[in-house]
Amino acid sequence: MPRLCVIGHPVEHSLSPRIHAAALRELGLGDDWSYEAVDLPPERFEEGVGALRDRGFVGANITIPHKEAALALAAEASQAAREIGAANTLTFSDSGIRADNTDAEGLLASLPSQPSGRRALVVGAGGAGRAAAWALRSAGAEVAVWNRTTERADRVAQELGVQSVRGGLAPDRWQIVVNATTIGMERDAAAAFKRFPLDADQLTEDQTFVDLVYRPGGTELLHAAQAAGAQTVDGLEVLVRQGAASLRIWTGLTPPLEIMRRAAHEAR
Ligand code: NAP
Repeated sequence: MPRLCVIGHPVEHSLSPRIHAAALRELGLGDDWSYEAVDLPPERFEEGVGALRDRGFVGANITIPHKEAALALAAEASQAAREIGAANTLTFSDSGIRADNTDAEGLLASLPSQPSGRRALVVGAGGAGRAAAWALRSAGAEVAVWNRTTERADRVAQELGVQSVRGGLAPDRWQIVVNATTIGMERDAAAAFKRFPLDADQLTEDQTFVDLVYRPGGTELLHAAQAAGAQTVDGLEVLVRQGAASLRIWTGLTPPLEIMRRAAHEAR
């Protein structure tokens, strides 16, 4: 019986087990395949992953704080994982462990239109910011990164071949804006607006705002952009899309997106 899991620390709040269980049922694999949450602290990550294959696991999603460590222990890695410097998907086989990064693919699949030739601003230079900047650049967008800690934005810009920008930012400079920070995770609208470097409520219908942060009902920044007329993408959609891309890698089947979406929304 092939087993799948999400590994994180902590991991009990992850929506992935619900999303994947619903998908496996819909694909007719519900009685054979399983998907569970595995909590591994950083000091036990390598040893824990090493033992998974012997326990019947064929794949794992990787979440905070293990994405870099996951790439480091894989024998083989996709170009996306290598260039981003992190993996959110591991596949176990007799030939060893393979690493992929479906966060990038999940973001691109969630966009309402092709980013090629468009100006994109990624706010945040952590793991999610790196994946977003890499994804948009590889899809042909002109990408700039802003980060509270400017040195980190400069490093991402240099490593990924994108621009680094500072200061308060004019909303009309960008056609795509991605929040890849933790801003908005707490329910403090005033703080979120103050910390975000651009007025999300000044975006217009020609612009797309992606909030990688997801909360029941959406975040304040997402609501502000939506009310201003911008096209918006909820982080939950990106989560579903990255999970779907992982499931395709493991099973070779077309993931049931609508079922996965419903499971994600019902869980919130
Ligand atoms: P991370 O590596 O810890 O990076 C955190 C980022 O947030 C850094 O850029 C950090 O800036 C910034 N930040 C934190 N507090 C801030 C504040 N008060 N003001 C301005 N910037 C602040 O985390 P991550 O893995 O990139 O994840 C970032 C977010 O994306 C999380 O909410 C995560 O849940 C979400 N995410 C969603 C998906 C999805 O599928 N929807 C996938 C991946 C991640 P400094 O460098 O200055 O500290």
